[in-house]
Amino acid sequence: MSKNWRPATQLVHGGTLRSQFGETSEAIYLTQGFVYETAESAEARFKGETDGFIYARYGSPTNDMFERRMCLLEGAEEARATASGMAAVAGAILCQLKAGDHIVAARALFGSCRWVVETLAPKYGIECTLVDGRFLENWEKAIRPNTKVMFLESPTNPTLEVVDIAGVAKLANQIGAKVVVDNVFATPLFQSPLELGAHVVVYSATKHIDGQGRCLGGVVLSSKEWIEEHFQDYFRHTGPSMSPFNAWTLLKAVETLPLRIGQQARNAARIADFMAEQKQIAKVIYPGRADHPQADIVAKQMKGGSTLVALELKGGKAAAFALQNALDIVKISNNLGDAKSLITHPATTTHKNLTDEARAELGISGGTLRLSCGIEDTDDLLEDFARALKSVPA
Ligand SMILES: *Cc1c(COP(=O)(O)O)cnc(C)c1O
Repeated sequence: MSKNWRPATQLVHGGTLRSQFGETSEAIYLTQGFVYETAESAEARFKGETDGFIYARYGSPTNDMFERRMCLLEGAEEARATASGMAAVAGAILCQLKAGDHIVAARALFGSCRWVVETLAPKYGIECTLVDGRFLENWEKAIRPNTKVMFLESPTNPTLEVVDIAGVAKLANQIGAKVVVDNVFATPLFQSPLELGAHVVVYSATKHIDGQGRCLGGVVLSSKEWIEEHFQDYFRHTGPSMSPFNAWTLLKAVETLPLRIGQQARNAARIADFMAEQKQIAKVIYPGRADHPQADIVAKQMKGGSTLVALELKGGKAAAFALQNALDIVKISNNLGDAKSLITHPATTTHKNLTDEARAELGISGGTLRLSCGIEDTDDLLEDFARALKSVPA
């Protein structure tokens, strides 16, 4: 299998394990276990003397194809597919920590990610400091001798702030801590955290990787050494494994990932520029625009803009609701990364559990909307917004 293919080719052919039937499309192996020719071959498999699968909680052929394909895309040595994005995030963080250790995390995190580091980890004696991740000096100030994990998302949900991944990795390396990056918002095509010095990358495959609203999934990618030292046993014995059916769905989904992400990002860039000109809009945040507050970091670490756009309406919650309700093609949903364009009002949905103060810190107001662009025709989406804006007072 050539490792020199470009991403679009890897995503169609990489990691394929063809059976004796020579099928074109990857096979689904919906099996819990595997049989052995002889007692001796079972013994050898369990001793690790021969390669092969043992039990689907540890690994199975369809999951293996998905994991290999993701490794080729991400430039990682090893990957494990998990049942959901949260199984990937929680596992990647907790597997390497023990009581007395310390986490530094950016405060702008997906809600459940924030709960894992802020609420769950302390129950096990693992302390966490949340910082405004936009500024490196905040990470530096929060580091302690017992800091073992630095965790971040970039761009963040929903206001698309970015974190200097190479800068955080440099700080982590000084004290031997591991940087875990939730790369969902950037997608594997627009940002490669391992190349920037991060140690572990996690995805909710539920988002762009499936991209068609069907199944939950996650993936943890890192070096062979990190997986073997930290994740392997955690994964085998706590059981966050992905169903082979979902692995197959995701394996087929990634074939079209570059086509979908390309169109989603083109739509996002056009809508961001259009919305920036509208009188009802106070602010547009889009990592592909020159007026992004951290355009220098975007240029340094991202290979593309984003499939998401954050909007701030002058008229607050009433205007945000009026716009959402007047849209026709764009659907109201808290999901993202889908082929269908989706719009979210974070303050009353995804971020409703935060205090007013915590929301304000993250730049989320009543007028904030998060748009996840789909793959629809750009002009239809622009017309949908132009028409819907007529229902929003300036
Ligand atoms: C959705 C999401 C998750 C959680 O993924 P699930 O597949 O829903 O468990 C984690 N991080 C980010 C940034 C997400 O958008």
